[in-house]
Amino acid sequence: MTSVTRNMPLTVANGIVATLDASTRVLMRENVVVEGGLIASAGGSDVRGDTLDASGGIVMPGLLNSHCHSPETLARGVVDRIIYEDWIGAVWPPLDQLTPEQIRVAVLLGCAEMLHSGTTAVVDHFRQTPMRLEAVEAAVAAYREAGMRCAVAIMVRDRSVPAWVTDKGGDISELLGAAIDTWHDPDSLITVMLAPSAPHRCTDALLRRVGEIAADRHLFMQMHVDENQSQRHEANGIYGHSSIRHLDSLGLLDRRLSLAHCVWVDDVDLSLLAGHDVTVVHNPVSNLRLGSGVAPIPEMLERGIAVTLGADGAASNDSQSMLEVMKLASLLPGTSGVSPRPTAPDILAMTTGTAAARFGMEDVGRIAPGQKADLVVFEGNDPRLHPLNDVHQQIVFAGAGIRARHVVIDGRVVVRNGKIQTFDEEALLREADEFRAFQQKKYM
Ligand SMILES: [Zn+2]
Repeated sequence: MTSVTRNMPLTVANGIVATLDASTRVLMRENVVVEGGLIASAGGSDVRGDTLDASGGIVMPGLLNSHCHSPETLARGVVDRIIYEDWIGAVWPPLDQLTPEQIRVAVLLGCAEMLHSGTTAVVDHFRQTPMRLEAVEAAVAAYREAGMRCAVAIMVRDRSVPAWVTDKGGDISELLGAAIDTWHDPDSLITVMLAPSAPHRCTDALLRRVGEIAADRHLFMQMHVDENQSQRHEANGIYGHSSIRHLDSLGLLDRRLSLAHCVWVDDVDLSLLAGHDVTVVHNPVSNLRLGSGVAPIPEMLERGIAVTLGADGAASNDSQSMLEVMKLASLLPGTSGVSPRPTAPDILAMTTGTAAARFGMEDVGRIAPGQKADLVVFEGNDPRLHPLNDVHQQIVFAGAGIRARHVVIDGRVVVRNGKIQTFDEEALLREADEFRAFQQKKYM
């Protein structure tokens, strides 16, 4: 596939630029110049190298999806009304044993949807049970093929392993060590994170071991916590208190930890999260899809807890569009009456610069000189963006169906004029149709 390399200068010309920098300023019909993978200038009429026409379009930092499970893109639309406990058994047995080629297809399907909807970076809480190095290798290779920025969070567990998993797998410390040595490179598009599935799905020995590796190697960690009420009860049964208190007793709460969901948390939990500067990843669509509940985001923000946004897996959403997630995240606090909800710029920060910093993606998420050139040009020829009264509000509240005209990641053009440059999307869709584990219906 042809694409412009990151070393070639590039001008994103004549767009409406939502910088999402500290001032959240918006530039009208100005240029963004990219050189060596970085933003060289933001604003003005300077032109260098290749040109991407952004006329009438909205130029902004690419979005970050803080939590997903790439294999689930093969399992959209599998079950309709269902709760979490039944959903796991309906969706995951065929997904836990994918071939490397099926993993490639699953990852690229997610990448295709994310790119078209303006997402340039993702934390993939990558699940296979048991975890296999060749599975991680296939996922990393697919993200590299797509040209997306990805923190591959390798999921591990050794408790309540599902009945359909018969293979115990190899030594997890060895596997994590090999994965970190091979793929973790903060100067590249790929980093490795460590991802114990959830405290109650891991022995304390495993949690401690993974925590030690994360501390030794300066890695970020992500876990699921208190996604639904039954998980809260299960943790209480095991520990005699909440999962978050248990993580505190193990010394695992710190700034490099992110916890997905945190729907069923109490005041003490919130104080611990705030005190240890832990990140909460809010997955509002998935939480409603599985009847899990609504996380107390306004209370978290009031306490100064960092909140970022995730789509969660495509089998519990079933989309990977952060545009949908942003709107719901903004509106859901309204269910409790008068609570102040995050503003549109707040929501955008949770999906761009603030989020990137929470996952060690340095200099990502703002349109400003010196920042890495991860940006999207949304198609402006769209009724949802006319008249353009407020670019931030219209992206968050009206943006769910808008499409990326261009996407640049690390200075490389990954989508040009709506077409993915790094892989053959049409061929990918045909390959996806070959995955028949869930295709009971015949659409012939
Ligand atoms: Zn999840």
